[in-house]
Amino acid sequence: MSDVSMIELIRDAADKAAARGDTIAARNYYRAVLAQQPHDVDAMLALAQLIPVVSERQRLIAQAQVLEPDNPAVVAAAAENEKIITQGLKIIIVPTNDTQSSDALEAVPPKPLVMCAVHATMEATLRCTSCDRPMCVRCTIPNEVGQLCPTCRYKRIPERYRSSLQHWVIAGGISAVLATIIPIPLVFLLSIPFIGPLLYLAGGMLIGSLSAQITLKLTAKRGRTMIMACGIGVGLGSLIAMIILFGSNISLMLLLLTVLSIALAIRSLQQTLP
Ligand SMILES: [Zn+2]
Ligand SMILES: [Zn+2]
Repeated sequence: MSDVSMIELIRDAADKAAARGDTIAARNYYRAVLAQQPHDVDAMLALAQLIPVVSERQRLIAQAQVLEPDNPAVVAAAAENEKIITQGLKIIIVPTNDTQSSDALEAVPPKPLVMCAVHATMEATLRCTSCDRPMCVRCTIPNEVGQLCPTCRYKRIPERYRSSLQHWVIAGGISAVLATIIPIPLVFLLSIPFIGPLLYLAGGMLIGSLSAQITLKLTAKRGRTMIMACGIGVGLGSLIAMIILFGSNISLMLLLLTVLSIALAIRSLQQTLP
């Protein structure tokens, strides 16, 4: 069978699926036609009619307009889409059914689409189990109580994990100051062979644990973002300490020690601010 007759078969299946109201199958068939013939304006328009997502409809119609701006079907589709958008996004999909009488079409009133409360161009397929707002697939992350909208999801995060910029600045500031100051009295340890560098490394743990404890006292916040804010502070402070202590004489060994002590500090942060 040639490619062309194959495509015509798929198009035929698409038309039939659309006619009997099976929009999902019809959409898949028209997409298959477009995959083979990306410039098929007829398939584009037919698919656009069946798509509830406004942005995708618009994209398809715009594509058709580029290809055949004077085609009366394209002009009509664009005008129709414009009308739908100005009418407030209430898209109504009516299956184009030639065999059905117009009476039968009227007997089944078309259901207007409900749009997502957060994403105005997305069709809502579910409702938030907490506030009952309509939600799209992008908003629906299932959790133990069902489906929650982003707002309700945020509200359910325990207070201690809801940190904001102000808390991050405090966390980062404290950690930076401690990471700058603590290595200064410890630097003499580096001259002691073997055991010295190990003790110096313990300073990293001290920095991490002190930063975490003071941060917790001042902000009462914990969690990943707080650990991250402290970690950035420790990194910055360590850099400043290195420059103060060694200037441009930073050896590879020192660099390694510093990186290891930052890692140890972050480990302590994770243990204190889980
Ligand atoms: Zn909600
Ligand atoms: Zn949404």
